[in-house]
Amino acid sequence: MKENLTDLFGSNVFSVSVMRERLPKKVFAEIVDVMEHGGNISMATADIVANAMKDWAVEKGATHYTHWFQPLTGVTAEKHDSFLTAPQDSKALLQFTGKQLIMGEPDASSFPSGGLRSTHYARGYTAWDMTSPAFVKEMSCGTILCIPTIFVSYNGEALDKKTPLLRSMEAINTQALRILRLFGNTQAQKVIPQVGAEQEYFLVDREKYMKRRDLIYTGRTLFGAPAPKGQEMDDQYFGVIRPRVGAFMADLNEELWKLGIPATTQHNEAALAQHEPAPIYTTCNLAVDHNQLTMETMKRVATRHGLVCLLHEKPFVGVNGSGKHNNWSICTDTGENLLDPGDTPNENLQFLLVLACIMKAVDEHADLLRCSAACVGNEHRLGAQEAPPAIISIFLGDQLDDVVEQIVANVESVKLLARGTLDSGVSTVPVLNKDGTDRNRTSPFAFTGNKFEFRMVGSSDSIAEANVALNAIVAEAFCQAADLLEKAEDFNSACSKLIHSWMSQHQRIIFNDDGYSDEWVAEAVRRGLPNLRSMVDAVPALTTEKAEKLFTKFGIYTKSELEARAEILYETYVKVIKIEANTMIHMAAKHFIPTAIAYTTQLAQSISSVAGACPTADLSVQKGLLEKVSVHLADASAALEQLKPLMARVDAIEDIKEMAHAYHDAVVPAMTALRIPVDELELLVDKDLWPVPTYGDLMFEV
Ligand code: ADP
Ligand code: MG
Repeated sequence: MKENLTDLFGSNVFSVSVMRERLPKKVFAEIVDVMEHGGNISMATADIVANAMKDWAVEKGATHYTHWFQPLTGVTAEKHDSFLTAPQDSKALLQFTGKQLIMGEPDASSFPSGGLRSTHYARGYTAWDMTSPAFVKEMSCGTILCIPTIFVSYNGEALDKKTPLLRSMEAINTQALRILRLFGNTQAQKVIPQVGAEQEYFLVDREKYMKRRDLIYTGRTLFGAPAPKGQEMDDQYFGVIRPRVGAFMADLNEELWKLGIPATTQHNEAALAQHEPAPIYTTCNLAVDHNQLTMETMKRVATRHGLVCLLHEKPFVGVNGSGKHNNWSICTDTGENLLDPGDTPNENLQFLLVLACIMKAVDEHADLLRCSAACVGNEHRLGAQEAPPAIISIFLGDQLDDVVEQIVANVESVKLLARGTLDSGVSTVPVLNKDGTDRNRTSPFAFTGNKFEFRMVGSSDSIAEANVALNAIVAEAFCQAADLLEKAEDFNSACSKLIHSWMSQHQRIIFNDDGYSDEWVAEAVRRGLPNLRSMVDAVPALTTEKAEKLFTKFGIYTKSELEARAEILYETYVKVIKIEANTMIHMAAKHFIPTAIAYTTQLAQSISSVAGACPTADLSVQKGLLEKVSVHLADASAALEQLKPLMARVDAIEDIKEMAHAYHDAVVPAMTALRIPVDELELLVDKDLWPVPTYGDLMFEV
């Protein structure tokens, strides 16, 4: 690292302190006021800010600016415009105006809108989100000043992930403040959800990656037999980091720190070639921006090291997939975390009310939370053999669970289970105080001390939707609680009653045992909890009456925005599976079947030449192999021939929802049917002939 960490951190961010330094006092005060309380800045102010931003960015080597936004593609979008105005006398004149800063109008008709606008109504607007600071990004195409923006249609409908997120943050702010006021808190002016996103990923060698069309087109392997060694030895998790990976991590940290992203943890994950960084948590929308930037930076830095960063949820069958843990809490501007139970949660009425609200919210809107983590790659994790299950439940840990039990049982004075100490039996190691909760890796929504960890989100997905859902459902419960309690004559008794009532009604959402077990699946059915295994089953959650009521009440989504998002999810599902199926057809027809034919031909030729040279030679091995390979070859060819017409039939379906279901029910199994014989072939065919790097090559040779 060239500079020390203090100088490096945030050096590419137009932060509040940079603004304080570079803006006239009055302008700075106006900007900070709008950042904190909302409102508009005057065009004169915008001009001054824009000019200061440009000067700062140009000093950093920037030549262009862009409105950086998060359309419904799941990745970020940017169109670069240079600071150049018409040159005079061959001299460059640089300009960046307030108008250019505040608003952009990209011709964005090619972004998914789910029918919110047709191609001939192309207008979309980007508008500066002042709560997320501008930054410069150093890319191969130059250094670019990036202005984080929302993206809306001509009629103000959200076409992005940030707009509803900001709306949901306002909703939870307003409703949480009502709760705080009931408890006599007059200090807090703002309540802000806090998020820290752990990000899992795989690294593979770029040269090997380039030999696999499935990785290139779909981000995952569509074929591939397991390597002889997987993760059964548990020797990768937290293991020593391989040198090439370590160099990547060091470089990545540096890039993230420059962008003001507080990357702090790094370690090897469970699967070989799988790793994870985590940042220090921050304001929800900034955390979402940072996570998008992290993913983008990981990909860019990997290329520099001759590596490719795979963010897909399931790059390899048979080893762990990748997710994102969305750690979420709610904090006041005075530094109070509403999810902090304190030392005596049993007596902490405010905490218990917040907990009761969260139980109610998660139970009533389990389907929405599930849907917020729906992306095509996540199909291989949720509801499949892997963690976490598609059933939403809450893990509280022994101590809090016991508190809830007592409240539900109407115990007069609720006691707290002793935390206990941990005596390792080693005299030189001090006796340790234990945490109030153990961990439960199988829970999709686990309380971890002073935050909830939502573990369902896919590794490639934006965390925006998950946080929109969390903020919205909890805002609704807060609102209902405040509506009741603001009218109460005896606040304490009304509050205790409400906590008892909601905890009793929603206790079914709590589950502290093994979330991967079959017993839980059966138990969840008994409890009436939804188990939406597939994305296509989860999408309708967005357009139920219940969802519409929730989101429109707080102005987070309109009915048509919800319908549009549902449509986009179905479309995305169809498109992704179609690309995967087409890639399989390509690889089977062009790579694997020809290879198998070449190998059988080679075998047959060697059989006849050996027989010619030595009529008494034992050729049973060669003949057996030839037979086996021929059987799998025939199976592969038959599966290929079935997949093609099947896709044509499914593509003829007009309704997008029906088509998505047909892809799920018919095409996906047909893809598996093609994969099986090809993976068998891989295990038989001479390694030198096999046309693509294998799982062993990809995971062990980094
Ligand atoms: P754990 O060990 O429970 O996974 P860590 O302390 O390693 O927790 O944190 C995991 C992630 O959770 C980090 O990104 C961290 O910044 C974030 N985090 C910690 N406390 C909070 C909080 N109060 N609210 C939101 N995120 C948090
Ligand atoms: Mg964690």
